Amino acid sequence: MATAIVTGASRGIGAAIARELAARGHDVVLNCAGSLDRAEAVAAECREKGVQAKAMAWDVSDFAACQAAVKQVKDELGAPTILVNNAGITADGLLLRMKEEQFDKVLRVNLKGTFNMMQACSAVMVRARTGRIVNLSSVAGVMGNAGQVNYSASKAGVIGMTKSAAKELGARGITVNAIAPGFIATDMTDALPAEVRQKAEQQIALGRFGKPEEIAALAGFLTSDAASYITGQVIVADGGLG
Ligand code: NAP
Repeated sequence: MATAIVTGASRGIGAAIARELAARGHDVVLNCAGSLDRAEAVAAECREKGVQAKAMAWDVSDFAACQAAVKQVKDELGAPTILVNNAGITADGLLLRMKEEQFDKVLRVNLKGTFNMMQACSAVMVRARTGRIVNLSSVAGVMGNAGQVNYSASKAGVIGMTKSAAKELGARGITVNAIAPGFIATDMTDALPAEVRQKAEQQIALGRFGKPEEIAALAGFLTSDAASYITGQVIVADGGLG
């Protein structure tokens, strides 16, 4: 069994992925930005499944913090050979009104954060000659979405990085894939106005938002031996929205 790092695991999709990986017998590091109490509560649930689980707060957009965190994980729990880049934020607004800071902030966390963690962990995985990296993109990165030029740019960027990293790391036994969820019921989508939610539901073939566990199941598969011949792919899980 492996040591896994899941970023943004204090709530939502990341928390569900941490629970899924723990259920599969992996030791788990649960990263968050600030809500360490919540991450620790999820870590306690993971430990009930008989694995080691540690909650740690660091900002994934901080390159040095990512390097230091991965080193700490390696020293305390063993070399991380599973990485799920799930931490993400939104700061929505129409193109004409979007502030520069709104754009930069979303790119820093969603895109550069994914780069920071991939670089720190892949150095470890190359030495181990094995690894599984799963990056959370979004249907917004595939199809675009009005009001989200910053977010969709970051999530399209994640797809490009995933495909390039898969080509670089394949020969070292490391797979890199992306998941592009549609609307999933978390704090992120709770913030949407009721009329936007209703309209979205009408466009989803399954007629409902997804559950975090439905994305976690896919992440569990992509990090498993069963997915050993899948790399450089973007798997859309959107209930038939696209
Ligand atoms: P969420 O409920 O808003 O949770 C976000 C998580 O990211 C939290 O654990 C948060 O930590 C962490 N985080 C935010 N900024 C961070 C930073 N700078 N450094 C470290 N951690 C940070 O999000 P979600 O809805 O579960 O989404 C998870 C991922 O799926 C995101 O990448 C999102 O873009 C993607 N996604 C979501 C949906 C959806 O419909 N929900 C659809 C497509 C894609 P704190 O709790 O400490 O703030």
